[in-house]
Amino acid sequence: MKKIVMKFGGTSIGTGDNIRHVADLVAKYAKDGYRVAVVVSALAGVTNNLFEIACQAKKSDQKQIDTFIANLHQKHKKTISTAISNKQIQNEVVKITEKTIFELEKVLTGICYIGELTSKSSDYVVSFGERLSAPIVWGAIRDRGFETQVFTGKEAGIVTDSNFGEANPLMNFTSHLIGERVGPLFEKGTVPVVTGFIAANQDGVVTTVGRGGSDYTATILGVALHVDEVWIWTDVDGIMTTDPKIVPTARMLPQLSYQEAAEMAIFGAKAMHPRALGPVIKENIPVRIRNTIHPENQGTLITKEPAASETNPVKAVAMIKDVAMLNINGAAMVGAPGSYAKVFDVLGKNGINVMMISTAVSEANISMIIKRGLLGRAISNLEIALLERGGVVSEVTAEDDVAVIAVMGANMKGTLGVASRIFSTVAKMGINIRMIAQGSSELNISFVVKEKDGVAVVKAIHEEFKLEKN
Ligand code: ADP
Ligand code: ASP
Ligand code: MG
Repeated sequence: MKKIVMKFGGTSIGTGDNIRHVADLVAKYAKDGYRVAVVVSALAGVTNNLFEIACQAKKSDQKQIDTFIANLHQKHKKTISTAISNKQIQNEVVKITEKTIFELEKVLTGICYIGELTSKSSDYVVSFGERLSAPIVWGAIRDRGFETQVFTGKEAGIVTDSNFGEANPLMNFTSHLIGERVGPLFEKGTVPVVTGFIAANQDGVVTTVGRGGSDYTATILGVALHVDEVWIWTDVDGIMTTDPKIVPTARMLPQLSYQEAAEMAIFGAKAMHPRALGPVIKENIPVRIRNTIHPENQGTLITKEPAASETNPVKAVAMIKDVAMLNINGAAMVGAPGSYAKVFDVLGKNGINVMMISTAVSEANISMIIKRGLLGRAISNLEIALLERGGVVSEVTAEDDVAVIAVMGANMKGTLGVASRIFSTVAKMGINIRMIAQGSSELNISFVVKEKDGVAVVKAIHEEFKLEKN
C-alpha cells in the first residue's frame, strides 16, 4: 500500500468547484488503497490580501479592515456552499469559518490600535489564509464519505525556531510530534488535512515558513509520516524549462535530481519553495510536481539520480523579480582584511538575506542582490553602521528596477562555451548586463539586467538553447 502526501496550492483551490475536484482526486486515490495525507494552501490570492491588510491596519485604517473582513467572509462562505453538498457539514464549516474570521478581525483591530506590525504579528495575520481554507477542503473530503481530520500546522506538531516569516522546522522534534499526533490515524486510513505554510515556535507562537511554504510543510509531513512519495499538485504540468506564463512553448522536464530542482527553486522557478527539498533529500523520498487539471500526466519526478541521456548543457532559465541591486564602494576596502565581513555582518544582523554577490579584483566595489522590499532597511543600516565607523565604505548606492536571470543545468558543469553563448545572446539584443555570478557548483550562471528587459532575455535564452517543445 502506497503512502502519499498530497499538497494542493492556492491555484488548485481557488474556487468551490476546484475544491470539489481536489476532493475527488483525494477520494480516487484513497479508494484505490492509497494512504493519503493532504496539505493545503490558502485560497488563491488570500495570503497576498492578508499581507496588504496587515500593512493597512498598521496605518490605523479601521474602515478598510471592516470592508476587508466582509469580503473575506463572503468569499469563503461562497466557496463553502459550492465545495460541500451536505448541509450539516456545510453548517459545521461555516461555524468554524465565522469563529476564525472573528478572531482575525480582533487581531487586525489590535494592530490598528497599536499602530505597529512586527514580523511576529504579521505571521499571525497571514496564518489565517490556511486556517480558513483547510476546514473547507476537510469538509469536501468528508462530503465524499471519508474519515478525515483537520489540523493546523501547530496542532499537527510542526515546531520551528522563532525566525518569523522564514522559520525553520526543528525536524527531529517535529517528526516525533507528527508521528504521535497524526501518524496513528493516517495509518488506519483517516485522511489528515493539514494547513500548509504555518507552524509554531517552542512557545506555541504562530510562525510561517516563508512564501510558498506549503510545499515545505508537505515534505516535512512526508518525512515524519515515512511516505513513499510527496506530490505537489499545481496549475502547470510540472517543472518546466521556464515559466510558461513567459514562454508558452516551455517544455515540461520529466525528471530532475534533487540538486537540480533545488537550484531551480532557489533561482526563481516558483513551482516549488526553495527549502522544500531539504527534509526529503535526507530520507531519499521522491517528490512529484503534478497538474491538478491533468492528473493523467505523471508530472516531474524529483529523485536522487539525475536524468540519464541529457546532452543539452542548459535545462532551464528563470527570472527573479522583486529584487534590488546594492552597490557598496570604498577605496579603503582594497586590501583591508575584514571589510567584507563588516558589510555582511550589518546585513545579517538586520535580517537581510543576500541572494547574489559579485566583487571586482580591485576590491573597491561589492555588488549584491537582495529582496526589493528590504532595500530601504539595507541602505539605512549600512549607512548608519559603516559610514559612521569611517573609512572602509564611502558610498552605498542602489538600483531597484532590476531582475536576476538564472540559467541552469547539471550538464553545464565542465561544458565550455555556455557562458559565452549566454552573454553573446544578450549582447546581440543590445541589453546591458549589470552584474554576473557563477556558483562554484557550476550548475547555474546568474546575471542581472534591467527589469524591463527581463522577459525578452528569458525568451531569447530559451530559444538559443532550444529548450522549447518540439
Ligand atoms: P501553487 O499555488 O500551486 O503553489 P505557484 O503559483 O506557487 O502555485 O507555482 C506555480 C506557478 O509557478 C506556475 O503557474 C508557473 O507560472 C510558475 N513557474 C515559474 N517558473 C516555473 C517553472 N520553471 N516551471 C513551472 N512553473 C513555473
Ligand atoms: N499561502 C502561502 C503563500 O501564498 C503558502 C503557499 O501558498 O504555499 O505564500
Ligand atoms: Mg506555491
